[in-house]
This record gives sequence, structure tokens and C-alpha cells, in this order.
Amino acid sequence: MPIATPKQYRAMLDAAQKGGYAYPAINITSLTTANGALKAFSDSKSDGIIQVSTGGGQFASGLEVNDAAFGSIVLAEAVHRLAEKYDVLIALHTDHCHPSKVDGFLRPLLAESRRRKENGQGPLFQSHMLDASELPLDENMTLSVDIMKECVELDIILEVEAGVVGGEEDGHDTSGVAAEKLYTTPEDMMTVYETLNPLGRFMFAATFGNVHGAYKPGAVKLKPTILRDGQKVVMDKHGAEAEMDLVFHGGSGSSIEELRETLDYGVIKMNIDTDTQYAFTRPVVTHICENIEGVLKIESEVGNKKVYDPRSYLKKAEQSLCDRLMKACDDLRSTGQTIHQ
Ligand SMILES: [Zn+2]
Repeated sequence: MPIATPKQYRAMLDAAQKGGYAYPAINITSLTTANGALKAFSDSKSDGIIQVSTGGGQFASGLEVNDAAFGSIVLAEAVHRLAEKYDVLIALHTDHCHPSKVDGFLRPLLAESRRRKENGQGPLFQSHMLDASELPLDENMTLSVDIMKECVELDIILEVEAGVVGGEEDGHDTSGVAAEKLYTTPEDMMTVYETLNPLGRFMFAATFGNVHGAYKPGAVKLKPTILRDGQKVVMDKHGAEAEMDLVFHGGSGSSIEELRETLDYGVIKMNIDTDTQYAFTRPVVTHICENIEGVLKIESEVGNKKVYDPRSYLKKAEQSLCDRLMKACDDLRSTGQTIHQ
């Protein structure tokens, strides 16, 4: 199946909202991680979202080119081709783009989708995230409206953020922000809805104490009811159809009860990166430890080509990432829910 069309992507989000499940949105940085992600969604019979961060795009473009937008285009084009081999719907998304990166990252990607549109093709990415949460909300919304207008023209959904996800991800560190900023208020949720809904469909990373990265159980104080209360305020004023498509960032280390509670409050996408990064690396460590005399050329020995061939451990890494992502599909109840016939 090719990548989801804009219409199919909207149907995916509707189905998740109605069915009380969410899509894992996994960050990929290479063909190997992309293949592991596609296999997981396919084996789970789950539709899903594959996303690229600015750092992931940079990495994918190679040390020499080092261009986030270019690397993201290369990865996305590869996933468009690879996804044709699977019978589930996959949407492509880009992760946090802070205001300073809009011109160097988001705009070139939108230009690429415009070029495709002129050639009769669908957008390269079906959604993008603009994370202007570091700005005061009114400035955040001004920039979000500007970008969203262009997205709407191109049939692309925009994800925005208000409030701040704590922790550090992809080099962006918010560990110094005030604690109350980690919780989006109902007033903020109303402002986001009333500003963006007239323009078209959007996704919203409202924050409820979530933090990027890995934490020991109990270290993160999530308040999922923030989402429920914000949705209620908006729906009381604007009706049931005003329920927003919410996105859960920083879910690593959350209990399954906390994850599933958010599904009742309109979360339809949960980002997953930290947990699949670990899952990818873990079997590589075992491989190296178990084959230490083969992966190294010790003294006058020649090592063992079979175990230092990168494919020998990257295949294990790909499968382990796949297994972890299948668990995420189970946790978020997307397993078996593909809308692709
Ligand atoms: Zn995030």
C-alpha cells in the first residue's frame, strides 16, 4: 500500500478518535529503523505514523551533507517506496520544529510537497509539527496560523504545541522551564481550538506533565485529566465535534494505565523514540559482548567477518525495534485496527 493519502490519513485519525485508540508515531533515522517500523505496523495489522526529527534528517543526510530537510526528504521518499510492500496505511510526519528552524526545515519540506502537488502527486509528508511552545501563546498562534495556511493548501495536517514538554530531546533542552509551563491550561486549549479550527484540521500536543527521555517509574508526575478538562471546556462551548486530536509526547516510563487513560481524552498519536532507541541498541550490545573476539582484530588475529559485518547485528536491532513497536501498538490498542481493506 502506498503512503496514506490526505483523505485516508483523516480517516485514520477519525477511526482512532472513534475507536478509542492511538497510533504510535515512531522516529526513524535510517533505512534500517524505517524497515523495522514498517514490519511492526504490518505484523500488528495496525496503521501507523513514521516521523523524522530535525536531528534524524540531519543524520540521514550523512556527515558531509548534514542537512535536516534534505535528509528528511530522502528518508520520506524511501518510505514512500518501501510502504508499497505492506498492507497497512502509513503516514509520514515530521517531529518538533522550533521557530528558529522553520525557514531551514519546515519551509523547504513544504516547498517539496508543493512541487509534488504541481506534478499531480500527494504531499511528501502528511503532517508536520510546528513547536512554537517556547513563545508566548499569542506569538505561537500567529506563527502557527501562518504555517497552517500553507499546510491546508497542500492537504497537510499541522501539529502544534502549547505548554512545554519537559526534558531533553534531539538537543532541545527544556529542563529549566517553570513547572507550571508543563501543564497546558483549559484556556490555552480553548485559544488553540478557536484560532486553528476555522482554518482546518490540526493535531495538538497539549502538555500534562510529560517529559522527553527515560525516567525511573514514579519520577514523572503526569496529570492526564488536564486533557479531559481542556477538551470538556472546548466541547461544552463548541459541541461534541470539537473534540481535538491530541498528541502524547514523552510517554517513556508511563504506566499502561496512564497511556490508556489518555486514549479516553482524545489522544490519537503517541510519539515513541526513547524506548525504540533502547530496543534497537540492546541486541547490538549482546552481539558485541558475545562475539568480542570476532568483532575485534586482537593482536595478530584477523577477527571474524561474519560477526563484524554490520548487517549481522543491525538485523537483530531491526527486529528488536520491531518487537518494541508492536508492544506500543498493543499498549495504544491500534493492533488489528487497520482501516486498509
Ligand atoms: Zn516530543
